[in-house]
Amino acid sequence: MLLIGYLYGITSERRLARELSLNLGYRWFLGYDFDQPTPDHSVLSKARARFGPEVFETFFRRSIDLCREAGLLEEGPVYVDSTLIQASAAVDSMVRKEDRAQPPLSIEEYVQRLYTENEPATEDEGPPPRPGPSLRRHRGSPSRYPRPNQELQSTTDPEATLVNRPEFGRHLAYKAHVAVAGRRGQVITAAVATTGATADEHLLAEVLWQHRRLSRLGVPEVVADAKYGTGPNYLYLDQAGIPAFIPTTRFGNQHTGVWGREHFTWLPEEDAYLCAAGQKLRRYANLQRTQRVQYRAPKGACVACPFRSQCAPSGIERALHRSWALDLVEAAQDRIAGPKGKRRMTERKTYIEGTFGLAKELHGLRRTRFRGRRRVQIQLWLTVAAMNIKRAVRRMTVGGRPAAPALLLSRLLTALVKGLVSSASTSVSKA
Ligand code: SF4
Repeated sequence: MLLIGYLYGITSERRLARELSLNLGYRWFLGYDFDQPTPDHSVLSKARARFGPEVFETFFRRSIDLCREAGLLEEGPVYVDSTLIQASAAVDSMVRKEDRAQPPLSIEEYVQRLYTENEPATEDEGPPPRPGPSLRRHRGSPSRYPRPNQELQSTTDPEATLVNRPEFGRHLAYKAHVAVAGRRGQVITAAVATTGATADEHLLAEVLWQHRRLSRLGVPEVVADAKYGTGPNYLYLDQAGIPAFIPTTRFGNQHTGVWGREHFTWLPEEDAYLCAAGQKLRRYANLQRTQRVQYRAPKGACVACPFRSQCAPSGIERALHRSWALDLVEAAQDRIAGPKGKRRMTERKTYIEGTFGLAKELHGLRRTRFRGRRRVQIQLWLTVAAMNIKRAVRRMTVGGRPAAPALLLSRLLTALVKGLVSSASTSVSKA
C-alpha cells in the first residue's frame, strides 16, 4: 500500500486507502478480490511504528539492488547534494523553548505574568512590544541578533527548524541529503534526512558512508557544489583517497575590498608569505578550531607602508590565514578547470536537480507527510526507493526485454515485498 502511495504521489494515507478500495489495478497488485474489504488507513501508521526504520532502509537497499540487476548501477562518480523539504508545521507554531519546558502556570502566576509583561507604557517609552512569540529580538535575550532555532521551537513539530531562503521562503523545514550514482546518475544510493538548518558540509562523510554501505560500491570520485567545499571535507576526502570535484568559494578575501592572498607570494621553503612591500609574513599561530595557520607581518611593519590603505587599513600588522587543506583545494580547482571537471559539474547539475525535481513534483517530497525526523527519514527512503524501482523497470522494459511492463513490475515488486515482509517479521520478532 505504501509503495503505491509513493509511486503515484498519493500523499494522504486516507485517500490512499479510499483509492485502494476503488481502483481495480491497485486491488490486483495487492491481491484483493472485488468483494474483499481492503485495509483501513490506520494500518499504515501501525505498520510504520511496528516495523521500525530498519525495515524501510532494507527496502531502499533492495531497490538499489534492483537497479544493479537492471544494469543501471556500476562503480563511478558519486554526486552529492541536498534539498529542503517543507515541514508540516506553521512558523506561527514556534514558541520560546523555556516556555515549552515549563509546566503550565497556575492562574495566579499567569495573571501576575500577564501584568508584568504588559506594563502600561509611559509617554517616554516607544511603542509597546509586539505580543506573542516573535522572530525579532526577545526582551532579555543575551544576543544582539535573533537566533530563532536556538531560542524558539515549534509546538507542532519540535524537530523541524526554521529556514529563510529567497528560493524557499520562510518555513519550518527538514533537509534531504542525497547521493546519486550509476548510469547517468539514475540510481539514488544514499538518502539522509536532517533538520532544515543542518549545514550541508557536515553530512558529506555520512552520505558517502551510506552510499558505500547500501550500494556495496566504492567512491572513485565525489562531485558536489561549493557548499561542501570546506577544509575538513577536502582533508577527509584526501585521507580516504577520493578525488574531489568540489568548487570552493570560501577562501580568499574578495568581499572586503582589502587585498586577498593573491597579492602575496607563497614561499614554501620558508613557510612564509612575501608581501608587496618586501616584508615576510611568518607563521604566527596554528588554529585548531578553524583548521588554519595564521601568518603575520613583523611588528610595526604596516604602519608606514605605502600599501597600507589597500592591505592593512587599520595599521595593525597584516595577518593571512592558510587552510590546512589549501593545497588540496587548489588541486581540486585545477581538476575542475579541466575538461573532465567541467563535464562533472554539468552532470551534477543535471542529475541531481533532475532527481530533486521528480521527487518533489511526482512523489510528494515537497512537503513532509509526517512529523519528527525519524518519520521524515522513512518518507525519504520510501520516496527514493519508489524512484529507483521506476527507473529499473523503465530500463528493463525499454531495453528490449520481452516482458510486458505490468507483468515485469509485478514480478519485481513481489520479490521486493517478500524481502520487506521477511525483514519486518525479523524486526517484529526481535522487538
Ligand atoms: S601593509 Fe604590511 S603586509 Fe601589507 S604590503 Fe605593507 S608591509 Fe606588507
